[in-house]
Formats: sequence, structure tokens, C-alpha cells
Amino acid sequence: MPYELVKDSTRSVHGTEELDESTGSVVAPIYQTVTFGFRKAEAVGRAVRGETDAFVYTRWDNPTTRILEKKLADLEGAEACAFFSSGMAAISTAVMANVQKGDHVVATRDLYGETYRLIHDILPQFGVSTTLVDTEDLESMKRRIRSNTKIVYVETPTNPTLKLVDIRGAAKIAHSVGALLIVDNTFSSPLGQRPLKLGADLVVHGATKYLNGHSDVMAGAAAGRKEAIQQIRRMRKVLGGTLDPHAAFMVLRGIKTLAIRMDKHNKGAAALTAFLESHKKVRVVNYPGLESHPQHGLAKRQMSGYGGMFSFELKGTMKDAMRFTESLKVATLGASLGAVETLVVQPATMTHTQLTPEDRRKTGISDTLIRVSVGIEDAEDLIDDFAQALAKV
Ligand SMILES: *Cc1c(COP(=O)(O)O)cnc(C)c1O
Repeated sequence: MPYELVKDSTRSVHGTEELDESTGSVVAPIYQTVTFGFRKAEAVGRAVRGETDAFVYTRWDNPTTRILEKKLADLEGAEACAFFSSGMAAISTAVMANVQKGDHVVATRDLYGETYRLIHDILPQFGVSTTLVDTEDLESMKRRIRSNTKIVYVETPTNPTLKLVDIRGAAKIAHSVGALLIVDNTFSSPLGQRPLKLGADLVVHGATKYLNGHSDVMAGAAAGRKEAIQQIRRMRKVLGGTLDPHAAFMVLRGIKTLAIRMDKHNKGAAALTAFLESHKKVRVVNYPGLESHPQHGLAKRQMSGYGGMFSFELKGTMKDAMRFTESLKVATLGASLGAVETLVVQPATMTHTQLTPEDRRKTGISDTLIRVSVGIEDAEDLIDDFAQALAKV
């Protein structure tokens, strides 16, 4: 069968993985080694110069990690991929590999906390200026782009208000000045949207989330064209955020169930958001899959699954929202997302507590906003759990 026709679930299980050459092992072996021996001194030199793809030292490259990199490249429709020890290692390395002093970066205002720190606070320390633009408004992005803009950086859907960025439109704007469009695809996973197919140049992931999917491994990734990934790999060698081979094995195992997990996340979120939208104590539900989402049309065009992430606002006070989250019995109050267990956070008291109330209002984070990462539990159990916690408010 032509490979392009292979479906996502088959790809998640098999993808580019092959039987281990030396033993026939069905599961990719963990090459838990930092170094690789050579018989010929001259072969070491050629590998160091990058003339062969022989393994030399695990900070540069490792066989287990390489199997994982091929697998995600396949899922994202990329030529190549590089893995990292965390999502932030991937994001900071991908960004640093593409800017120099005097360059300019444009990013949307709604960013993951540490990405905001990198772009807003740290890049300017190295002489790279940055401009934040309204997330849903491509016109503002168009106005703020400059001839020295090298990166346009976006997340879609965003954390925690689930706004969307039109990837095709953002790519056009970035390419008009020769800049790269980098899309953080953590919230969606490659099975929810494929930014490279929509014109993005690089996709980055907190692979700690959906790709691994079990709240037990930190990992990150960047995927895109071969030359772009080579440049990022050279920077990874220096900054050192390489993935450990055992963690690579864990993420490979996680990805095998990505398709069935995403299917369950999508269905669970659809059921739970429908329930909440009709509940009298709920003011608004933010989920791209709902007709009521202001960008539902865009969601339909660029996403093939709406994912397990949503947020909603309770009517009432900050205290009421705390009472709700503390009353949940199936869902857990905790940071992180994209795993088998349902996790909730109240951004105002948890992830965004350092912002002033004024800044929180500006980014649409009200006192009673609750972000939900729907796990793979039974949807009826989750609805019952949310219903009993709402009754206590
Ligand atoms: C978690 C997350 C990251 C960072 O990933 P880590 O593995 O925690 O470093 C980046 N972007 C988004 C959208 C995330 O949710």
C-alpha cells in the first residue's frame, strides 16, 4: 500500500520503526551508552566532521533517540526531527539556532510561561528585539513584521484560553520577509493538526505532554526541513539539551498509543464541554470543537481533531473556583497536561499567579477560569465528577 495512505493509528504503532537488525526485537532497544567504539581512527574523524552518520557520543546522537526522531518526523510530515531533554530545551535551542544580535522576533501574546520568558526577557539580553502581537489578529502581526524579522513564533491552540492562530495566514506573513514560522504543536499533537502541511517551517513540542502521554517523562522535539534541523542539532550539541536514551524509549512507547489516546481525549472533551456549556453555574466554555468558539470555522479548516484541552469560567468568585477544583474526585488538581489522567488547574491561583490581576485580565484569565486536560477515563465518570463538584459551589 502506498505509504501516504497509511492511517494515523497504524503510523503511531509502526511508522518508520523496523525490527532491530541484530536480534529481530520488535521493540526498539535502549542503547544506554554515552560512547561508541571504532576500529579505524580515520572513521572517527569522518564521523566528527559529519561526513557519515556513525554514532560517536550520545550528546550528539544516539541510536534509540534516532529511531524516535524518525518516528515523529513521519507523524509531522517532516524531513527531519531532533529530540531534547524537555520541551523548553527544544524551544530555546530552535530559537537560538535561528537568531543573531540585531535580529527581530515576532510572537503572539498568548505563550507558554517559559516561552514568554525566553522571547520577552531573555532574547533582548542578547541583542534580539521582540514584539508581541494579538494572538487572534493577523493584521496586527502583518503591521509589526520587519525586514529583520527572522522568526514568527506562535502557539495554537493557546494556553489557557484556547485561542487559535491561522497557521496558513501566519506562514504567508512570515515568508513575506523571509522569516521562519515556528508553531508550538504541543496542545494538538500531530494527530490534531500538521502545521508543516499548512506552511510552517518548524514544529516544536513539549513531548512531555501528548506524545509521551503518561506524566512520567520529560522530553521535547523540533521537526522541519533537513537543513533547518541540522542547524538545530549543531546548537543542541553546544547547549546540551539532549534526550536520555531511556527517555527516548519511553516516548517511543508512548507514541504507539497516540492515536487511540487522542481519539479518547477528543471524545471526552466533546462530552464534557457539551455538559458544561448547558450548566447554569458555567459562564463560558472555551473549546475549538464547540460551535460557540469564535474561531470554530478556522478550527474546522486547520484541525483534524480538537484535542483534550479546554477551559471554562464559573459564575462566582475565585473562592468558588477553588472550591470546585478541590471537590473533584476523579480529576486531579495539578499542572501539566496531555496525559491519561484528567488534570485541572485554576490559572489565577496556580500557573499565572505571578501576573498582576490587571495583566491576567488582559490575557483573558479571569479569577474563575479553570483549564482542563481531559484524560482517557470514562466520559460519564468525568461528567458525574464535574457535576458533584459544581453542586458544592
Ligand atoms: C509544557 C509545554 C511546553 C514545555 O514543555 P516541557 O517539556 O515542560 O519543557 C511548551 N509549550 C507548551 C504549549 C506546553 O504546554
